[in-house]
Order: sequence, then C-alpha cells, then structure tokens
Amino acid sequence: MYLYNSATHKKEELKTHTPNHVEMYTCGPTVYHFAHIGNLRSYIMEDVLEKYLRFAGYSVNRVMNITDVGHLTSDADEGEDKMLKGAKREHKSVMEIAQFYTDAFFADCKKLNIKRPDIVQPATGLIDDYIKIITKLLDTGYAYLAGGNVYFDTSKLARYYIFNDHNEEDLAVGVREGVEEDTNKKNRNDFVLWFTKSKFEDQALKWDSPWGVGYPGWHIECSGISMKFNGEYLDLHCGGVDNAFPHHTNEIAQSESYLGHAWCPHWCHVAHLNTSDGKMSKSKGEFLTVSLLEEKGYDPLVYRFFCLQSHYRKSLVFTWENLDNAALAYNKLLTKIANLKSEGEVDEAVRAEYRAKFSKEMDNDLNTAMGVTVLYDVLKAKTGDATKLAVIADLDMVLSLDLIAKAAALRERNAAAVQSAGAFTVIAEDGVADEAIESLIRRRAEAKKAKNFAEADRIRDELKAQGIEVTDIPNGAKWKRV
Ligand code: AMP
Ligand code: ZN
Repeated sequence: MYLYNSATHKKEELKTHTPNHVEMYTCGPTVYHFAHIGNLRSYIMEDVLEKYLRFAGYSVNRVMNITDVGHLTSDADEGEDKMLKGAKREHKSVMEIAQFYTDAFFADCKKLNIKRPDIVQPATGLIDDYIKIITKLLDTGYAYLAGGNVYFDTSKLARYYIFNDHNEEDLAVGVREGVEEDTNKKNRNDFVLWFTKSKFEDQALKWDSPWGVGYPGWHIECSGISMKFNGEYLDLHCGGVDNAFPHHTNEIAQSESYLGHAWCPHWCHVAHLNTSDGKMSKSKGEFLTVSLLEEKGYDPLVYRFFCLQSHYRKSLVFTWENLDNAALAYNKLLTKIANLKSEGEVDEAVRAEYRAKFSKEMDNDLNTAMGVTVLYDVLKAKTGDATKLAVIADLDMVLSLDLIAKAAALRERNAAAVQSAGAFTVIAEDGVADEAIESLIRRRAEAKKAKNFAEADRIRDELKAQGIEVTDIPNGAKWKRV
C-alpha cells in the first residue's frame, strides 16, 4: 500500500518491521468533553485505514491512548489543565469526567462503526512507565531539571523533527497561544516531561516521582503507551494534523532518545473538518456532536459516508447542505442494493476483479472517494445480483456503512408497506420520502377512484413538470426523480 508519509513528505510504500504485520498507534481523545464530529473524522479515517490494512492481508496491532491527564489548554505546556477545567465546569471529579467522556466517545464510535482499537490505555494507568523513560532521559543528558519540572532538552538532538510541509502558522498555534514564556526552558522548543510545580493548587491527579509529587507532560504518554504495547518498533503512527507539531515532534524526540534508534518510519495525518466559519474546536464550548446529528434526524452513518467521499489529506468543510447531499446519496445507494435479489451463484472471478479495483484505489493513499465509486461500478456491472451483493459485503468490511443490513431493512419496510391491508402505499424509490409529492400522488389516486380523470391527468402533469415519474404498484404507487 502507498500512503503519504508526513515524515518524508512523499507518498510511500508502507514498509513494516515484521512482514505482513502492522504495529499501529493512534493518538486518542482528550476526555474532558464530548468528541466533535471533526475529531471523529480523524477516527473514521484511521478506522478505515486499519480495516483496509486487514483487508489487504496484514495483521494489525492497533493501540490508542486516552488522554485523562496532562493536556493543558495550549499544546505547548501553557494554560489550564483541560481535565481540571472539565471537572470544574461540571462540578465533578477529574476521574468522573474522564470516565463519562471516555464512555461517550466509544458510544459515538459505535454509532459510526468505528472499531475499538485492540488496546486502549488511559494515560493515568502507566505512570511508572513514564517515570522510567524520564529517568533514563535524565541519566543520558536528554533532559534537565529546572524550577521543579523535568524538561526535554531539544538542543541535544541532531535534528528536532518538525513535519514541515504543514503550514507553520497552523502548527505553531499552540506555541503562540501561550502568552507567558516558561523561563525555566533552556530552549524555546523544550517541553515538559514531568511537572512537580503544579500551576494549579487544586490539581487533582498527582503521583510520587523521583523529582517530587506531580504529573506527566502531555507527550510522554503516547511514547510510553506505544513502546509498551507496540514494542520498540512502531510501523505507523496516526493522528489529526494539529497533532503533528508539537505533539508528534516531541514524541519522536523523546522516544528515539530513549530507545537509541529510529522509532517510527511512517506518519499519517488526517486533515481537519472545518465549519464554513473556521476550525472546529472542543474548547470553544459549542460544537457539533454525533448526538446533535441524531437529534436532527441524520443516521450517523451518513456522516461516515460524507467523510469517505473525500480524501483524508484535504480539509473538509461541514455544512448541513453537504450532509443532506450525503444523506440523499446514501439512501439512493441503499435503495439500489435493496433491489438486488440474493438468489444465484457468486461469480468468484468477477468478485475478485472488483475487490482488486477497490484495492487499487485504496492502495493509492487511501483514496476512499474512489473506493466508494467501485460500489456504483459493481451495481452497474453485467453480473448476477448474488455476485454484486458479495462484492458490496466485501468492500463494506472496510467502509463499514452497514450496506447489506440497512438495504435488507429497507426492503422489508417497503414490502410491509405494500402488503398493509388495502392501504394506498406511496414509496419513494430513492428511499427519501417527500410529503408534498406523496400527497399529490395520493390525490391523483383518489381522483382516479372517483373517476375524475381530468383532475387525475392534471395532477399527473404537475408531477411530470416537477420531474417525478410515478409507477403504479399493487395497492399503491412508487415514484422517483428522473
Ligand atoms: P483531542 O481530543 O482534542 O485531543 O483530539 C482528538 C483527535 O482529533 C486528535 O487526533 C486531533 O488531531 C483530532 N482533531 C482535532 N480537531 C479536529 C478537526 N477539526 N478535524 C479533524 N480532526 C481533528
Ligand atoms: Zn499522541
């Protein structure tokens, strides 16, 4: 598979330390609030990547952290502790907040068919591991103590890695937001490994350490968790593009200094979901959640479909209109699948041909938009329905749009509606009901029943003028836009 590598700024073949096996790490959520659909865009794309690697024949060990300690409101060790801020807002303890929003995060993931990574590790669970790493960094001269805190000394590195093909302005936001300079730092880019002098008198989570009671900096958790569960050689590290700097840069600095060898060759960053007025942000308070989509009547999988229709490296603008278009396309796709009959033999050669077409697109830097079009291609193919259904089921192992199950449910709903005793049933062929059109169709049926053919014809013309084609079915009519 060819996947863009932010570390080399090129589309590159994914090479793994152990053949046919991928050790994969994903930066997890900071659990002080609900995830917004922007965060979830990153997790949807990482989920597709993981599932595609499995589809392509790799075994995958996927590890993710849960940030329940250490992340300050600025990514550069400045500002308030995000967890403490959440706890104050809701008058709960930090651990209650962490548990509540961790559960909420996985509930959202479930609705979006995002698989739970093989290993999920809350940051607070591995403090001893971070202490071990920091101790070695101090012993080997990569870290220093100043003002009670332990800092990583970036001047000790041959190269302080920055994923410099990203916009410097974007990457440096965290640094610029922090107004006060930390005067303990020897170099501007040095970062905190361990805080003992908490800026917050009521800092809730603190642990004993060789340097005094305190808590870890934000970056050390991902190095510690990955090294524990992925081993010394990580193959693929993912996260949203805002994680690239300083978070991932600092992960590389501390992991490689600790290990004494290169750590992770391939870095994958998902571009942001933005609203028309800018970046989506959890800390702004008001934001778009999966629950909000549901309240407004959207199936969460419509949002997943929306994300898959664009490339993960391009920023994506969210508008309700865009989501409506995705809903329409998703329902049409389900209707097409619902019309397939499952009888007959699967043509394995044709099935392999379409799986290969899908792989070709996905091997090209995870081109999900083109991967989705293979679904439409197979629907139009000159092959039996059973083969089409088999291909759709195969591709949906990666896309996870519940295509087969939702199409079956739609077919059952339609059949039940047709059979409902004597009632006149109106079915939208694309699965998207429209009250105004359907009431016209009913009025036409009533006019015909009353032998008022002039009125029936008038309504037929009115529907035609709107581009609606009506077909009579037993006890009803079905319609579509032509
Ligand atoms: P957080 O919970 O803020 O630590 O972020 C969780 C994940 O969401 C990280 O991988 C971020 O890089 C990613 N992320 C944050 N904002 C967005 C956004 N607007 N679009 C896509 N991903 C995002
Ligand atoms: Zn991380």
